[in-house]
Amino acid sequence: MKEGSDRMRAAKTATKTETKISNKDKRKRVPRIGFHAPIAGGLQNALLKAHELGCTAVQIFSRNPRGWTARPLDAEDIERFQVVRAETKISPVVIHASYLINLAAADPVIREKSTVAFREEIERGITLGADYLVVHPGSAKGSCEAEGVRTCAASLARACEGLDLGSFRILIENTAGQGDCIGHRFEHLRDIIEACSGLNLGVCLDTAHAFAAGYDIRDEDGLAATLEALDHNVGVENIPVVHFNDSKAAYNSRVDRHWHLGEGLIGSEALARIVCHPKLTHAAFLLETPQERPTDDLRNIDVLRAFVNGDDCRSK
Ligand SMILES: [Zn+2]
Ligand SMILES: [Zn+2]
Repeated sequence: MKEGSDRMRAAKTATKTETKISNKDKRKRVPRIGFHAPIAGGLQNALLKAHELGCTAVQIFSRNPRGWTARPLDAEDIERFQVVRAETKISPVVIHASYLINLAAADPVIREKSTVAFREEIERGITLGADYLVVHPGSAKGSCEAEGVRTCAASLARACEGLDLGSFRILIENTAGQGDCIGHRFEHLRDIIEACSGLNLGVCLDTAHAFAAGYDIRDEDGLAATLEALDHNVGVENIPVVHFNDSKAAYNSRVDRHWHLGEGLIGSEALARIVCHPKLTHAAFLLETPQERPTDDLRNIDVLRAFVNGDDCRSK
């Protein structure tokens, strides 16, 4: 009897504590925010810039994204980066893979080059202590989408062969489906992840790409349906990063044109709803909006911060 009531008391206390934590969590649980920061003058400059603009997370290239060869990281590069990271406490650090990499390439030469370059991206990410590496699944030009999905999965597996990824995670980004790019349907991402089950792949959700690919995230019902499709195919908990962009390209246009927050065809109301959605608060929201004028980043970050700090977000 005594044991029973003790257990009950313990259970009650536990429930109370849980409730307390979850209420506190709810109040505090707002997404981390950041942007794709430039690495001119050294990788650590991206962290400093993000910190200066009040960001808590960042995305970088770890190398020139438009060239095949990368200067190897030396001990000084790595130390400088890690020291500044510890000082700024920026987290997560997300690396975007080079745009040249095409893991779905039908051409064996491009595929081989891409696989080698992607392995280098992984190694650089692990060396820097980054959290995530985002990659586009690639273009299936010369074959078909189903073949592209299979090729992408096989290339990923090969790129990771013998590597210990630890907590470092590769994220496959959804695409607008421009040209022959695969990844515009969440099913493609699901199939790649399932084919590489040993790699613990996740997903990076790009809002502009999803919109241009035919996921209508402009209203509440459309967003709910899109998140449901994501959850069904890949699990929303496997989306630690959202590329938070408005779109200059029309809904379902399959054209990839990122635009300033609130000035594109997704619009402020819909974007605020996305960043405040309780299913996504665990994710880091990173901007990849145009950087034409020096004030562009700060302006877009301010808009994102206002969404996150808005009453809508805080009360959810
Ligand atoms: Zn991308
Ligand atoms: Zn993106």
